[in-house]
Amino acid sequence: MERRPFGWTGVLIPVVGQGTWRMERDPRAAVAALRRGLDLGMTHIDTAESYADGRVEEIVGEAIAGRRHEIFLVSKVLPENASRHGTMAACERSLRRLRTDYLDCYLLHWPGEHPLAETIAAFEDLVRQGKIRTWGVSNFNEDELEEAVRLAGPRRVACNQVYYWLGERGVEHFILPACERHEVAVVAYSPFGQGRFRSHPVLEEVARAHGATPRQVALAFLVHRPSVFTIPKAARREHVEENAGAGDLRLSDEEVARISRAFPLPRARRGRLPVL
Ligand code: NAP
Repeated sequence: MERRPFGWTGVLIPVVGQGTWRMERDPRAAVAALRRGLDLGMTHIDTAESYADGRVEEIVGEAIAGRRHEIFLVSKVLPENASRHGTMAACERSLRRLRTDYLDCYLLHWPGEHPLAETIAAFEDLVRQGKIRTWGVSNFNEDELEEAVRLAGPRRVACNQVYYWLGERGVEHFILPACERHEVAVVAYSPFGQGRFRSHPVLEEVARAHGATPRQVALAFLVHRPSVFTIPKAARREHVEENAGAGDLRLSDEEVARISRAFPLPRARRGRLPVL
């Protein structure tokens, strides 16, 4: 599993990690799947207080028990909780459910009504208290990211987690370049379009050339830019194993160009990102 620096933080994390949204449906399978993923090097685990009202954080807590030191653990505060005091309290609740005393990265789930400066102040307090190592944002467009960097200063925002897969490449226009300008890692969520992923003859050809699968090629396409990481969610063991196999797949520039032509960029649009 390839590991690379998580933006300016320099922390080495795997290019393919594990999402956890909707993992409450079969907790036993979820714990087994997450542990299998850890064995295969997918040690970046993404969760959120909002997933099944904290139930998923409890499942993650069970999956990582005894292995905390291996893991790059990320959770998210809901915008409605993201006041200065609300963020601190939400973090404490997440830590309790996850049965840990620190997060590797804590994200604002999407831009909300509380002033961003307040949320950032809370994040910085949490860093000083050792409860989080770094913090970042999610679903921020390029203007919102610039504002976060302006408020926090350079090299404070660790990542921006955004909706990005072959069927929705809009973030490539402005958001990825903005993140790269500020050395902010990009985390591609829903890399299979939440079930909308369909194979394509080009993916199949490239997959054949590497002894890989079309889904592995799709993940490898997302992370071919050094700034990008991805977090597919898989509750089934065979899915976890397939996804982990993408972590060492390197596409040539020519392959990237062919895939890019098969899944063209949408027209450039600015504005608020829809939150999934
Ligand atoms: P996704 O990863 O695009 O798709 C998940 C679906 O794909 C599941 O049904 C899963 O099935 C299936 N799948 C996974 N690997 C597969 C494989 N190798 N072959 C066939 N099917 C496979 O969708 P997602 O859960 O929305 O996104 C991933 C993670 O991103 C989330 O879990 C969450 O942690 C994060 N996320 C963040 C935000 C945000 O606002 N920041 C929003 C959405 C998601 P099984 O589960 O049955 O294996």
